[in-house]
Amino acid sequence: MLAQAWHKTLRGALGLYLDFQEFLAPWSCLCCGRERDSADDGQSVSDDKLLCENCIESLNNKNVGFGPVCPFCGNPNGGGPCVTCHPPAHLHLYYWGNYENELQECILQFKFHGARELGIRLMEMAHGPMLRRLTRLENQLIVPVPLHKRRQRQRQYNQSELLARRLAELCGMEFCPNGLKRTRATFQQARLAEDMRWNNVRDAFAVPPPLVPGIAGRHILLVDDIVTTGATVYEASEALLSVGAARVEIFSLAYTL
Ligand SMILES: [Zn+2]
Ligand SMILES: [Zn+2]
Repeated sequence: MLAQAWHKTLRGALGLYLDFQEFLAPWSCLCCGRERDSADDGQSVSDDKLLCENCIESLNNKNVGFGPVCPFCGNPNGGGPCVTCHPPAHLHLYYWGNYENELQECILQFKFHGARELGIRLMEMAHGPMLRRLTRLENQLIVPVPLHKRRQRQRQYNQSELLARRLAELCGMEFCPNGLKRTRATFQQARLAEDMRWNNVRDAFAVPPPLVPGIAGRHILLVDDIVTTGATVYEASEALLSVGAARVEIFSLAYTL
């Protein structure tokens, strides 16, 4: 009984100490690294725990939502097939902004430095401008691009799943976190030359058999953090279409050619 009481007191004291530490700790923006107290440009300082006012403004100004474009060449394709690409040319990509400047820095922090809340914040900022570009929202099912289980164990989370989950909450769409799985481990696309990237992900995705009935006939919004060559989203969408998905559209925070 006494031990329990002590335990409670200690826990309370520790909580207070941690609150105090947080209060004292210099706050710095996860994007530019600037400390909160160094805001000397006369701008009001927000209570935001993740980003400074300048970075929020910059993110909102530069990333206004783009698409539909062909993910392979970046040309606007107005919802039809791309006229400059040979097949596969039917995919439509919607994205928030180009993979550069603040958006690039934020995605790096989100993906490689554990800043989960920042990724969720980016989706909160991105979903409005992007949803306005989607014309057909009926029968949508949100599916994230999966990580191989070994990669997910290392990183402890799948960045695309966090984004997709928040998007589903924000727009009230149905969410299917395990609609796709990786059938084999692949190298990180960013580390490969462009001509290697297609081979790297070929046939790397499948819909788990128990989930096939839930995918068939649906309009899938496939969510990823960044689209580069389009090879990953192409392979993932082929796996969905092969089990009867009616349509697949791609929704990513950033795009880089
Ligand atoms: Zn900043
Ligand atoms: Zn194209």
